Amino acid sequence: MKIEFMHPADQLLLFIQRIYRYGMTTTSGGNLSVKDRNGDIWITPAGVDKGALTRDDMVCVKADGTVEGIHRPSSEFPFHRLIYEARDDLAAIVHAHPPALVSFSIVRRIPDTRLLPNERQICGRIGMAPYALPGSEELGRNIAAVFAEGIDTVMLENHGVVVGSTDLFQAFRMFETLDFCARLEIEARRLGTPAPLTDEDFDIVRSEGQPRLPTFAPAFVSSEERKARQDMCGLIRRAYDQGLFTSTQGTFSQRLEGNGFLITPFGKDRKYMEPEDFVAVQDGRVEEGKIPSKSLLLHEAIYRLQPHVGSIVIAHPPNIMAFAVTDAPFDSRTIPESYILLRGAPKLAFDAVYRDPEATASRMTKDTPIAIVRNNCVIVTGQGLLSAFDRLEVAEYSAKSILAAKALGDIVHIDEGRIRELEVAFNL
Ligand code: 13P
Ligand code: ZN
Repeated sequence: MKIEFMHPADQLLLFIQRIYRYGMTTTSGGNLSVKDRNGDIWITPAGVDKGALTRDDMVCVKADGTVEGIHRPSSEFPFHRLIYEARDDLAAIVHAHPPALVSFSIVRRIPDTRLLPNERQICGRIGMAPYALPGSEELGRNIAAVFAEGIDTVMLENHGVVVGSTDLFQAFRMFETLDFCARLEIEARRLGTPAPLTDEDFDIVRSEGQPRLPTFAPAFVSSEERKARQDMCGLIRRAYDQGLFTSTQGTFSQRLEGNGFLITPFGKDRKYMEPEDFVAVQDGRVEEGKIPSKSLLLHEAIYRLQPHVGSIVIAHPPNIMAFAVTDAPFDSRTIPESYILLRGAPKLAFDAVYRDPEATASRMTKDTPIAIVRNNCVIVTGQGLLSAFDRLEVAEYSAKSILAAKALGDIVHIDEGRIRELEVAFNL
């Protein structure tokens, strides 16, 4: 899906649907715009049901101020126009009121983007614009003044957020990532005090380049590989729909017969993943012309050292990650399903995915099907794609239950005797 070939009205439709579908705006809230090369601003209409827009509902405001379309432009057109006037380099704007970001907006705080390695770089510097009446020139001036400082992500006091970028894919990615940071921090604060990464930690992340391996040109694609590519596609889209992956975060791999595996590419939007996007790895060589996930060497080491593993997922959904950014221990002895699938779930050091993949891979034995990497991710293994996916889902849901239970009372864990009984009955 190449955005440069999509009409602005289709771009607006694609992203307003996506934002609405994933609970990041209401029927009445939010608006998006795209600025065309000729100065036209394409924008969502004012006050039309955001859950049922069509491409014909989109409005074009010409550079001379004339309006084309069957509706009025968004009531927030003034701030869209003033941001574009302040920042020549921007061509797309996303505004909405997702609940977690509204929580931050009404306590007038900015979500911490330093709890995990990549979010700060995606969202950039974040500003806060003073409150003003919706739709007013005053609100527009307040927001544009923050953008004029070179800031692309702006929280609005008692309102929501505005993000600007060079295209809607980028703006959406920043918006979704900031919303993710807000959700993660809210969950983490229900558990304790989240600890952000230090400058030294970020130095480690920066020094971690793309793994460089020799390449190969596949002679043919086996039916086994075709099926694996199809299955991976289906489960990755499902992981996105279930909130387990974000558009650019979440890595899946699947072992192939012989000495190879398939892995997700680096940086590709998880919602629109296609079978041909996955990267084949064979005998330490990477499929020519493709960029694999940065965690390639860890996947490779796990497949080499742990013959029982057929599939690996690396992800950072917000509930289980609340345990990764605080000192709170994660205890899976809550319900039989959680203990059977997750077992001990140890916490590994932040740099476990970067340094010494062999040492990390050696931890992923049959008794340790999942590990929580501090301020980073969870590493989940399974016999096959579905079992790894299921385990990730169980980890996230178990964490969610534990977090919610805190409001209800003290958690009673399954006692040691009953745990033994499970181990015997399920051959753990
Ligand atoms: P519109 O429906 O006019 O775009 O307004 C939604 C909104 O979020 C106002 O701030
Ligand atoms: Zn609004």
